[in-house]
Amino acid sequence: MSFTLPTLDYAYADLEPHIDARTMDIHYNKHHQGYINNLNNAIAGTPLENKTIEEILANVSTASVAVRNNGGGHYNHSLFWKIMSPTGGGQPSGALLSAINSAFGSFDQFKEEFSKAAATRFGSGWAWLIKTNNGLAITSTPNQDNPLMDLPTGQAGLAEVKGTPILGLDVWEHAYYLNYQNRRPDYINAFFNVINWKEVESGL
Ligand code: MN
Repeated sequence: MSFTLPTLDYAYADLEPHIDARTMDIHYNKHHQGYINNLNNAIAGTPLENKTIEEILANVSTASVAVRNNGGGHYNHSLFWKIMSPTGGGQPSGALLSAINSAFGSFDQFKEEFSKAAATRFGSGWAWLIKTNNGLAITSTPNQDNPLMDLPTGQAGLAEVKGTPILGLDVWEHAYYLNYQNRRPDYINAFFNVINWKEVESGL
């Protein structure tokens, strides 16, 4: 099968002022579509053509660099669009808040650790809140890697912990440069105003 761009649940301008319409438009239609096109080209005529994106990422160590980069790019952005909403922000509640409190002590402590992971990821990459066998954890990855990939852990740059992402923040410059230029910490703060906590909770 061929992968396709998932539908956005909101308009490009709906996340303003936190994420501007032009960035959303370019990010979704150019960057994400580009990963999809390259992924489809890379898997065409191979056994990966019939796999889900999760299956591809779970065995990505045996695939080409193009599959790793573009398969990661497709998965990561698909999650990213879903966990943002014009009515997002605030704090999680219910089971998600309990899981966050259990893993990090408090929501404020979680926010501080997640923001630090996003701010200190050198160059392009992602910060993650993931579900592991031992509860929630924070990690970050370079490029379009993610904690689902069967790549070695504990090496410079790779995810320190593996698990299933339930929240991801894109810290590539293409995600914020038009509006924030070099001020990545401002973008990270703004992201917290659009997080769709109900959607994040559905990943538990
Ligand atoms: Mn991106």
